[in-house]
Amino acid sequence: MSDTAFDTTPVIAPSALKVSDEVAIEISNMNKWYGSFHVLRDIDLTVHRGERIVIAGPSGSGKSTMIRCINRLEEHQSGKIIVDGTELTSDLKNIDKIRSEVGMCFQHFNLFPHLTILENCTLAPIWVRKTPKKEAVETAMHFLEKVKIPDQANKYPGQLSGGQQQRVAIARSLCMKPRIMLFDEPTSALDPEMIKEVLDTMIELAQEGMTMICVTHEMGFARQVANRVIFMDQGQIVEQNEPEEFFNNPRSERTKLFLSQIL
Ligand code: ADP
Ligand code: MG
Repeated sequence: MSDTAFDTTPVIAPSALKVSDEVAIEISNMNKWYGSFHVLRDIDLTVHRGERIVIAGPSGSGKSTMIRCINRLEEHQSGKIIVDGTELTSDLKNIDKIRSEVGMCFQHFNLFPHLTILENCTLAPIWVRKTPKKEAVETAMHFLEKVKIPDQANKYPGQLSGGQQQRVAIARSLCMKPRIMLFDEPTSALDPEMIKEVLDTMIELAQEGMTMICVTHEMGFARQVANRVIFMDQGQIVEQNEPEEFFNNPRSERTKLFLSQIL
């Protein structure tokens, strides 16, 4: 029997992953308002390449707004956001550059219902990146294999389960070869039995060194994968720490209250 019958490749624990000194995202003194409502207050956050950050906090605390500001789906009004060395301003050239480097995955998968899974994955590479179709299809199949659904390539989103659709959404993002992935509650709309398959995909991405910011209520995932957990409340970063400390020894009363409600 060959040795390969037993896969002895060690699985890298995400907690053992190295974080680089290189800065991927730098947010300083950033504020945002919706009209007169001050939704994000004095946000300071530096994310290094290879970090896996989980953002937790009550509903309405500004988590989605913050990560949407990072790829300019929302505009901030003061302070700075620098992604991969490019400052986010109203310069459209910069916005295009950022969008191509930052992948985003939402609670609702936002797949195009009238396109097949494969077409969903090749659309942006072909039309935005001008990738030749053959190459776009090869890349799409590579990532669909990675999320373990290459056999669904010719189906339509409506024919897939929620967990499968979310994995397609992740594969579709990866087809643009992002350097940073943002997740906004990617498992919140899923039935419990499908949550694990999506989290497993995210864990694999983390193991490969992807820089990730994940808004999620999956605290098991945070403990296992994150190198840093950030707690937001009322538009502010209230507290941040490595998962062990964050969960076992929360500093602020607001964090303690939040954890007592969800754990
Ligand atoms: P979270 O993701 O933590 O639940 P959000 O970032 O979605 O929080 O929202 C933060 C606050 O901003 C909430 O009070 C919400 O109602 C408000 N908000 C979100 N989007 C908009 C918008 N487009 N216009 C006005 N208010 C908004
Ligand atoms: Mg949200």
